[in-house]
Amino acid sequence: MNNDNLLRWTDDADQTEAHRPFSDPPWKLLVVDDDPEVHSVTRFVLNDLRIFDRPLHLVHAHNAQEARVQLRQHPDVAVALLDVVMETAQSGLELVGYIRNELKLAECRIILRTGQPGYAPELTVINSYDINDYRTKAELTHTRLITMVSTALRAYEQLRIIAENRRGLELIINAASELMERHAITSFAEGLLTQLAALLKLPLDGLVCTQRGSPFGVDSDRCYVVGAAGQYAPYIAQPLARLPNPRIVSAILDGVSKHQHVFAADYTVLYLKAAPHQEAAIFLNSGHELAALDRALVEVFAANITACFRNVKLVERLNYTAYHDPLTQLPNRLRFVADLDQVARERVEAVVALLDIAHFAELNDGLGEDVGNLLLVAVAERLRTRLEPACWLARIGADVFGVLGPEAQVNPARLLALFHDPFQVGDYQLPVTITLGLCRTRDPVDSGLTLLKRTNIALNRAKHSLSTRHEYYLAEMEDNTRWRVEIIRRLRLDFERGKLQLWYQPQIALATGQVIGMEALLRWPDEHGFVQPPDVFIPLAEYSGLIIPMGAWVLEQACAQHARLTAAGFAALKMAVNVSVLQFRRANFVEQVAHTLAQRQMPPDLLELEITESIAMDEPRVVLDSLDALKRLGVLIAIDDFGTGYSSLGHLQSLPIDCLKIDRVFVKEIKPGEGGMLAETIVQLSEKLGVTSVAEGVETPEQAEFLRGLGCRVAQGYLYAPAMPANRLVAWLRARDAS
Ligand code: C2E
Ligand code: CA
Ligand code: CA
Repeated sequence: MNNDNLLRWTDDADQTEAHRPFSDPPWKLLVVDDDPEVHSVTRFVLNDLRIFDRPLHLVHAHNAQEARVQLRQHPDVAVALLDVVMETAQSGLELVGYIRNELKLAECRIILRTGQPGYAPELTVINSYDINDYRTKAELTHTRLITMVSTALRAYEQLRIIAENRRGLELIINAASELMERHAITSFAEGLLTQLAALLKLPLDGLVCTQRGSPFGVDSDRCYVVGAAGQYAPYIAQPLARLPNPRIVSAILDGVSKHQHVFAADYTVLYLKAAPHQEAAIFLNSGHELAALDRALVEVFAANITACFRNVKLVERLNYTAYHDPLTQLPNRLRFVADLDQVARERVEAVVALLDIAHFAELNDGLGEDVGNLLLVAVAERLRTRLEPACWLARIGADVFGVLGPEAQVNPARLLALFHDPFQVGDYQLPVTITLGLCRTRDPVDSGLTLLKRTNIALNRAKHSLSTRHEYYLAEMEDNTRWRVEIIRRLRLDFERGKLQLWYQPQIALATGQVIGMEALLRWPDEHGFVQPPDVFIPLAEYSGLIIPMGAWVLEQACAQHARLTAAGFAALKMAVNVSVLQFRRANFVEQVAHTLAQRQMPPDLLELEITESIAMDEPRVVLDSLDALKRLGVLIAIDDFGTGYSSLGHLQSLPIDCLKIDRVFVKEIKPGEGGMLAETIVQLSEKLGVTSVAEGVETPEQAEFLRGLGCRVAQGYLYAPAMPANRLVAWLRARDAS
């Protein structure tokens, strides 16, 4: 700590007026007297006078009360000329007590004046109140008044400098030890600003910027804001050039290039240098040119902080860690968002891509975290070496990388090609598949975060897609996403509140016209009693996983209803229940079915589980295992919507099924005198497979007749009845029995 400079400056203070290049604030003098004559004489003598090269500013009060008001308004009064006797004999002394004890103005010099010599205060009072002088008014001649005021002013200035120095030095020492504790550049910078503002008694408004060690690899020669407060807070992590005021930018760069502080009329720039290329600049919106004393303090401060700076090599190390991923050394999410912010603001035409490593978690579990980490490093390395420098890279999440760059570089073909070759990781050759979400920056966006979110929406789309590994963001996706999220929320809520219902659509044997069973169909009534189409909410329930508890509930309800129907005398009816593939995939699904059947004492061969054709083909092995187990339980299996998927007949033959449901699009084709080709094929196919055929969506007697002619066994459709709530179903069954 070098306070030689400061002390020398202090010693020189009152001889170096010539060195003060800035305008001198006036000395403030308070004149308190109940005699107007004294005011005008004092004014006459002291007005237009300069003492120590500074003008005088007189503040007048005509009684103790006025004096108190003035003192509160002007706490920087250097000298008070007080009349001892005013309203009372003690008025003047009471005022002195007020100045020293209440306002705690220790530096203000006090000169007491009195008309009559007999009112002189005790010496002890003079000492304890730190009164400079006591004179009768008669003694105060023109010259004497000036001399006395000058002496008092000099005393005042010295006291003030000492006090300021003490305060400043204390602050600087505290600042250095406080800043040593800070280990992140933004926090360090924030500390610098706080300390400086306290030292200079300024509002917290400024910024710290650094050059080297900047995280902004692409453009490391430029200055970036690493910490900021007040109006500059929004510019953290941004290039200095972004500041709204170019004058400030050039002042900072000027200070940095000249390696010196800048004391301007309304701001201050401090230059810090820890080592070559380890430089920082602090910009403070000081609002005025710093006074000589403050400058000296600030210089001492800078010298102290520079030492602190050097010791911990903060600029480089801390700056780096704040914006980099320690594993891959790539910029991190924070940095990427800042880059995207810039793109958003400047409307740069580019493409943002998020690359997600497929099945990374499994690989991590299977081969161990170390191998997982090495793979991530290898992926980062490949991106870094194979993509052009124009591309900005980042690690966004555990197994997600971000790329920002021109379309020629950042496109699915180019990015997917980077992963054609496997990765050499230790002893392993690991093939890596990626999923890509992309977003063009063409459309205006408010922030980098929005761009990232959009890209992420596209990525999620790609992840859920069966047909593609990449998706570009489209505005519809977002509307769609918001809408989906909302529907899922409401669906979950209504499900939990028991608002969902199960309705039943009868199935009719075409040969006899008898009811042989029913299909349970889920219904979601909204608050107005309208029913939401399951075609919309079932996929959402699947997407959100809600289908698992919901499907369990459906099964439970259907079996319970079956028991009630049996009890009501409608025995041996078949209950068909739709099952989602997600339910099949659950290890405990078969158990769950067995449990429900047992609980309701339902004969297994009266329960028919409908799975869709596409699902049966999509996940052949999973489904086959489950189906075999279900068959052992004795339940029936139907393939739903048959004909709309892409079944391989060979595969179909290998499935243990009991029923094919002819999708209603084929039934619709059946019109008087034409169509029905596919329906016919499916009926023949079921015959060959030895399974029942059920026609869905039968709406006309012609269709029913045609299907019956083909040998189709069962029909279901509006011709007979729509799906109905349990009580209506019972009424319908009764009415049909009666006829
Ligand atoms: P699906 O299994 O093919 O169900 C038959 C659909 O055809 C039902 O639509 C039914 O109301 C409708 N339908 C019945 N007769 C006729 C007719 O004569 N003409 C026409 N045009 N349509 C008829 P819904 O109830 O809207 O169900 C749509 C789909 O939602 C179902 O198709 C099924 O895939 C799914 N779903 C419904 N309930 C459940 C459930 O509990 N679990 C699961 N996983 N999926 C369900
Ligand atoms: Ca069905
Ligand atoms: Ca169907």
